[in-house]
Amino acid sequence: MAVIRDVMPAFDLLQPTSAADAQRLLEDIGDGAWIMAGGLDSFDWLKDRIKKPQALVDLSGIEELRGVRVASDGLEIGAMTTLTEITNHPEIKKSYSVLAEAVSVVASPQIRNQATLGGNVSQDVRCWYYRGGWPCYRAGGNICYADTPVGRNREHAIFGANRCVAVHPSDSVPALVALDAKFVVKGAKGERVIDAEDYFIGPELDITHINILQPGDLLTTIRIPNTYAGAKFYFEKIRDRNVWDFPLLNVASAIKLSGNNIDDIRIAVNAVSPRPMRLRNVEAAVKGKPATSETGEMAGKLAVQGAVPLQFNAYKIPLMRNLVKRAIAGVQEATWA
Ligand SMILES: Cc1cc2nc3c(=O)[nH]c(=O)nc-3n(C[C@H](O)[C@H](O)[C@H](O)COP(=O)(O)OP(=O)(O)OC[C@H]3O[C@@H](n4cnc5c(N)ncnc54)[C@H](O)[C@@H]3O)c2cc1C
Ligand code: SF4
Repeated sequence: MAVIRDVMPAFDLLQPTSAADAQRLLEDIGDGAWIMAGGLDSFDWLKDRIKKPQALVDLSGIEELRGVRVASDGLEIGAMTTLTEITNHPEIKKSYSVLAEAVSVVASPQIRNQATLGGNVSQDVRCWYYRGGWPCYRAGGNICYADTPVGRNREHAIFGANRCVAVHPSDSVPALVALDAKFVVKGAKGERVIDAEDYFIGPELDITHINILQPGDLLTTIRIPNTYAGAKFYFEKIRDRNVWDFPLLNVASAIKLSGNNIDDIRIAVNAVSPRPMRLRNVEAAVKGKPATSETGEMAGKLAVQGAVPLQFNAYKIPLMRNLVKRAIAGVQEATWA
């Protein structure tokens, strides 16, 4: 177990003032660099003495990474924009309210004042064995402590397990996937733009990483096209305590209706798999159908096909079935401001 009384291991603190300088520093230092945004996830790792980077690249002095820019074809949100700014932003509240709503239930007001969108989507899994410094698969070892007969796995995955059964914990991500957001990454070879759902990787591809970023990469911006601006939205998060807590499960949908019929839809869930899940099978099955509880019922059943519960998390199957149902049938009534 980690010793948490001792001081943090020493590191170099680098404070660039432009995204280009930050990227160059990341490239020069390579594997030994740690990107620090708001520090909510970063400081846990450092103070618990589990991650010991050579240098911290602190993004807090880079103005160009902050703020929301409204354009004719959508929004550009700088990676260093705080969750509070996103929740309060008039255009996000008006036209992309699913994101404002999702972000408004992250953690606590104090955390949202400091935490950034780039950090929220890039945060690591919350599995307590891994966070406690146990040498599991994700930490580079040869065992999963959560997936054993006595493992504590109530919060863990029902889909996508591959040695690691931890889940992706972000609340903002399903909303971003539902809005068809694009992540802009600055790297050694220039800039690349990645669909939100492709930013994340599962343990079958790389068990020690949660996203596609390579040493030298920096997430600079999240773009939201106006394709779903003003659509019907639904977001719901289930957690153990309503004061602040990570999701046991969350769902986000963006739906275009003709009358009560579903013309187009994007729907995603999180906290059920090591990477966020876009439910393409549900999207295909409900297009052209009315947004009713019958359609929602059918969608919920489809969504949980193939789920494999662990010893203590079978409750997530009916939970996911019902949330998906509500994300379709409840879309007419959903209001958030
Ligand atoms: C008590 C508590 C409760 C929480 N509850 C919730 C919750 O209910 N829902 C939820 O979604 N989250 C929750 N969180 C997680 C929290 O929202 C995230 O830790 C926070 O959003 C991370 O943002 P940050 O700016 O502090 O990032 P940091 O902690 O600085 O960074 C997080 C990770 O992202 C990487 N990173 C940050 N910015 C970039 C970038 N621009 N490019 C590439 N990599 C980057 C960092 O290297 C690090 O690995 C909780 C955290 C705490 C401490
Ligand atoms: S679920 Fe993943 S992070 Fe947790 S102990 Fe198993 S391998 Fe490690």
